[in-house]
Amino acid sequence: MTMKTIAIFNHKGGVGKTTTVVNLAACLAHVHSLRVLVIDLDPQANATRALFPADLPEGTATVKDCLTSGRSLAEVVIPTAIEQLYVAPADITLSEATFASSTRPNREHLLHAALQPVKNNYDFILIDCPPSLGPLAVNAMAAADAVIIPCEAQYLSLRGLSHVLELVQLVRAKLNPRLHVLSVLATKFHVLSLANQEVLRHMRENSRCRLFSTVIPRDVKAEEAPSHGMPLILYAPESRATQAYCQLTEEVIARCRN
Ligand code: ADP
Ligand code: MG
Repeated sequence: MTMKTIAIFNHKGGVGKTTTVVNLAACLAHVHSLRVLVIDLDPQANATRALFPADLPEGTATVKDCLTSGRSLAEVVIPTAIEQLYVAPADITLSEATFASSTRPNREHLLHAALQPVKNNYDFILIDCPPSLGPLAVNAMAAADAVIIPCEAQYLSLRGLSHVLELVQLVRAKLNPRLHVLSVLATKFHVLSLANQEVLRHMRENSRCRLFSTVIPRDVKAEEAPSHGMPLILYAPESRATQAYCQLTEEVIARCRN
């Protein structure tokens, strides 16, 4: 399989980016026995906590050290409870300001450079982006082959989607010609909401954003799992959200083979 680095991005918060990173990564590793690296590029470090619930030991190196002081990503990666699934952790010191004020040349390519020595060790690398259009998100997209855009099936979320697509275009034009949108993913879908159904229909008909066939339903298990430090596949293997993320994983693998 060709290796794929995928940024999970939407500048809106709370749309299911981290949930998608954690559960897609877990399904790729646990169900498909693929080697997967999650890079946590959000200072809130929610992906780190969901995959590695214990506090990071004092002085643990993080992604920030790779981006600011040239530490090797290989020194930062830690194993998770799932075999073949690794995380490059973040913490609150990973601030956008550090990068915005950086005068280093190639500051948009810091993550891309850090990935080069390790990327062949993994079948998939998933990057969890912060909820912003800032330098961290730009670094993620400059390093990625593809972007998955989680989006709630709601009117305002749909309007925000055009900003996301514009940033992807800009990064592709200026920094990374490989970059493409793998698909938009409808998340946190209220099965019983007519408004949600209406927006989903609109998303399906809008040719600007190809949608995954899989829709992630709103499911309380998805909300509970992170506080138990487990991906859904371990916390609630029978739940609807788990089934949806397993189905999404198959779609992602199929798309990446093409
Ligand atoms: P983001 O990373 O985009 O900010 P998160 O993945 O952290 O979004 O999700 C935001 C909140 O929504 C979290 O509390 C998460 O547990 C919850 N959530 C995400 N996906 C679902 C879902 N399918 N069903 C119910 N709650 C969800
Ligand atoms: Mg997040």
